Amino acid sequence: MAKIYFIGAGPGDPELITIKGQRLIGEADVVIYAGSLVNPEILKYARKDAAIYNSAMMNLDEVLQVELETLKKGQVVARVHTGDPAIYGAIQEQMDGLRKAGIKDEVMEVIPGVSSFLATAAALKQEYTLPNVSQTIIVTRMEGRTPMPAKEKLYMLAQHQATMCIFLSVQGIDVVMSQLKEGGYPGDTPVAIVVRATWPDQRIIRGTIDTIAEIIHKEGVVRQAMIVVSHVLNSDYELSKLYDSQFTTMFRDGTDKK
Ligand code: SAH
Repeated sequence: MAKIYFIGAGPGDPELITIKGQRLIGEADVVIYAGSLVNPEILKYARKDAAIYNSAMMNLDEVLQVELETLKKGQVVARVHTGDPAIYGAIQEQMDGLRKAGIKDEVMEVIPGVSSFLATAAALKQEYTLPNVSQTIIVTRMEGRTPMPAKEKLYMLAQHQATMCIFLSVQGIDVVMSQLKEGGYPGDTPVAIVVRATWPDQRIIRGTIDTIAEIIHKEGVVRQAMIVVSHVLNSDYELSKLYDSQFTTMFRDGTDKK
C-alpha cells in the first residue's frame, strides 16, 4: 500500500533511531535521506533492493517527484531526516507539496526522532531545567539566509535568560555572543558547545559568552554543533519537587500529607 513515512533518524548514532523508524526503513521501497547530516549507517536498515536517494543533491521539486512517483506505484517511501523532523527539518513544505498533488493525510505518517539539542544535553550530562535557575528552553537559531521573525531576534530572546539551545549558528559565533550580551546575558554566563553529538568524533567545548568565540575559532569548528547558553551549566539549584520527600505526587504521599 502507498505510504510515506517522515522519519527522525536521531542525532548521529544509528542506535538512536526509534524501533519504529528502523522497522519502517526496512519496509521501504525507496529511501530518501538527508545526506548532509543523517548518518549513512542507517542505510544498513534498508532492504537490499531499496532505491536510495541522497536529498543533499536534490531540490524540493526533485524530492517531491521521487516521493509522488513512488506513491503512485503503490509503494512505500521512507524520508529520513536528522534529529527530529519538526525542528529545521523542511518537512512542512514536503507534506504541503504532497497534499497539493492530491496525496491524502492518511498516506503520510511522521515518526519522531531524538533531536540534537537533547543528544547535546546527554553528552553534557546536563539537565536544562533546574529549579530556580531555568524552567524554560528556547530552541532557536541565528539569522541566516532564513530571516528571523521581528519578535524573535536573538537579543530579544536573550532577555529571558532561559536555557537557550542555538542550532545552525556556530559559524556565526561572534555575532551570536554579541547579540546575547546585548540582550542582557552577563559576559560570564557559561556556554557549552557540543560538536557532532553522539558521533564517534563528538567534542565538547566550554567557555563563557565572552570567551567562547575565540576558543571556537582556535578549534576550527564551523558546522554540526549545538550552542547551549544557560546558567544551569554551573549553578547551585534547589532539588526538584518531583522527588521531594515533603511533597505528595500522583504516585506517592509525602510528609505534607502525613
Ligand atoms: N532536525 C534536526 C536539526 C536540523 S538543523 C534536529 O532535530 O536535531 C541542523 C543543525 O542541527 C546543525 O546546524 C546543528 O546545530 C544541529 N545538529 C544536528 N546534528 C547535531 C549533532 N549530532 N550534534 C550537534 N548539533 C547537531
